[in-house]
Amino acid sequence: MDRLTDISYVKGVLSKHGFTFSKALGQNFLINPSVCPKMAELCGCGENTGAIEIGPGAGVLTNELAKKAYKVVAVELDKRLLPVLSETLCDHDNIKVISGDAMKLDLKRLIEEEFGNGDVVVCANLPYYITSPMIMKLLEEKLPISSLTVMVQKEAADRICAQPGTRESGAISAAVHYYSSPELLFKVSKGSFLPAPKVDSAVIKLNILKEPPVSLNDEKSFFRVVKAAFSQRRKTLSNSLSSGLSMPKSSAAELLAGAGIPANARAEEMTMEQFAKIADALTQA
Ligand code: SAM
Repeated sequence: MDRLTDISYVKGVLSKHGFTFSKALGQNFLINPSVCPKMAELCGCGENTGAIEIGPGAGVLTNELAKKAYKVVAVELDKRLLPVLSETLCDHDNIKVISGDAMKLDLKRLIEEEFGNGDVVVCANLPYYITSPMIMKLLEEKLPISSLTVMVQKEAADRICAQPGTRESGAISAAVHYYSSPELLFKVSKGSFLPAPKVDSAVIKLNILKEPPVSLNDEKSFFRVVKAAFSQRRKTLSNSLSSGLSMPKSSAAELLAGAGIPANARAEEMTMEQFAKIADALTQA
């Protein structure tokens, strides 16, 4: 067994450094020995592909990534973990830990400085309190990465991977499908973490698309429409667009008519193509 999934070793190192878990920082560390090797295998890092990790914690996933990737750059917000990581990852010389907030970092610059033009993937057990904004930051910044393999809460995984036009879909499904082709890789039970969270998790992989699945006159309008449409998901589209885009209901109805969509349709029924049509109608208006 690897020492980083040996619960008494991990507890020992953490207590030696006076570390206590912070719920606010989403600190649930993986202790199930089968999960990290699987994530490192499936994320696609290798001798020619570097890896970026968000939130290494005590380094259990970092350790597995470093066995596969030629270089791992891990960004950790909690400074208390830096001495822990120096100890737990001391066997590797291909890991760089960066102290900082991954939400605020200039990731494009970081990739350029650390990996040049080489292939890079992101692999992380994301802190649950920033799951969606972190995924959106990684996608929207159009980083030179080929995929994101991330552990998120199971419910978030289902929502993120749901095909737009299906009942489970939400704003995040449409946004994610614009940039990537998502797949649910495997589920992870809550007992796999220290401390155990209240809900199960899942690992998903977002394979970055070279071209978006729909062509648009204006990308911003697409995201405005998607956000407005799901702002009140139980209401009809004309109502949610009217309040979400701050326009009279008659204008929202005209927008939908222009896109050939019935006014009483609902956001969850819209495919990517239909959202694109509404966005183009908005751009023209
Ligand atoms: N990778 C470790 C594992 O799987 O055991 C830890 C995962 S834990 C769910 C999330 C980690 O993200 C914690 O170490 C936490 O301190 C860190 N974190 C929280 N917010 C962060 C942020 N904004 N930027 C970078 N790291 C963050």
